Amino acid sequence: MIIIMEPGASDSQIQHVVEFAHNLELKTIVNKGVVQTVIAAIGETNKYSTEQFEAIDGVRTVQRIQVPFKLASRDSQHTDTVVTVKGNIKIGGNNPPVMIAGPCSVENQENLIAIAKVAKECGAKIIRGGAFKPRTGPRMFEGLGKLGLEYLDVARKETGLAVITELMDARDLDMVAEFTDIIQIGARNMQNFTLLNELGRVKNPILLKRGLSATIDEWLLAAERIMDKGNTQVIMCERGIRTFDSKYTRNVADIAAIPLIRRLSHLPVIFDPSHATGKWNLVSPLALASLVAGAQGLIVEVHPDPEKALSDGPQTLNFENFRKLCSDIEKLMNFISPTPCK
Ligand code: PEP
Ligand code: MN
Repeated sequence: MIIIMEPGASDSQIQHVVEFAHNLELKTIVNKGVVQTVIAAIGETNKYSTEQFEAIDGVRTVQRIQVPFKLASRDSQHTDTVVTVKGNIKIGGNNPPVMIAGPCSVENQENLIAIAKVAKECGAKIIRGGAFKPRTGPRMFEGLGKLGLEYLDVARKETGLAVITELMDARDLDMVAEFTDIIQIGARNMQNFTLLNELGRVKNPILLKRGLSATIDEWLLAAERIMDKGNTQVIMCERGIRTFDSKYTRNVADIAAIPLIRRLSHLPVIFDPSHATGKWNLVSPLALASLVAGAQGLIVEVHPDPEKALSDGPQTLNFENFRKLCSDIEKLMNFISPTPCK
């Protein structure tokens, strides 16, 4: 950590910062320049916030040298983490991108199985479907709860696909962990710290969606929290962020975040073109773009009749468009290398 003093900082102010650092068991190197003094604090600086030093009289600014997300950082692990799901599905590294597909919400058994079959036939390895749905309005369809999990389980058994579903409440963790292969933490809960803290208790890989207005550091720190609590199998998922223009798209697809996460972190990163755009006719172009940018998987909303979907119909692909997307991906993958951009 580098502590930069104000130009006119007195010797006693400098001495106070040094003693403050020593009391935290940090070593210091004081570099007195002609105009300003710079103090390097060395040791377990990750335990302390920069604000603690910035609050001291005579300190102008404080900068970290190491990233605050130590476990998630590529500095601490050079090789890509490959998350293994259900024994043989590999997400990350140089593995081909994994397709996750399914309805926004689990609606009924027949519909889910029909979707799962099409997903499988198109090469998807994992079926998605929300049993607990975060909805903005209090009287909207909020999912089937446990019954939805049971439907997912039947679809899993019938097709052999793995299952991913969203966990919203820590009280449901054990039940969701039992019925699903990957636990999804939705955008709205990315900074629900008490929920994240609980995830260390289970072995299921975690798909961590980026918060609606989360910075890259905040997103990686959420991953860091899950890892710190003991679950290192985290998959990052870019799903679009909010900016100033929501007239044509639900969110703004931050494609740059994909190669960026791959530079900053060893964790796999996938893309959700459905929530990122909110429009079914933008889903496929953005899905392809994300693969070019290095996405190691996709999570796409699919429904036999999106007009009748109980949630997120406007951003949902019908079977025909999903089949077309999968065949386009197959063609594209002959031209691009899944090798990480370093
Ligand atoms: C979803 O996957 O249906 C969902 C609610 O996603 P997000 O948390 O990204 O909005
Ligand atoms: Mn949805």
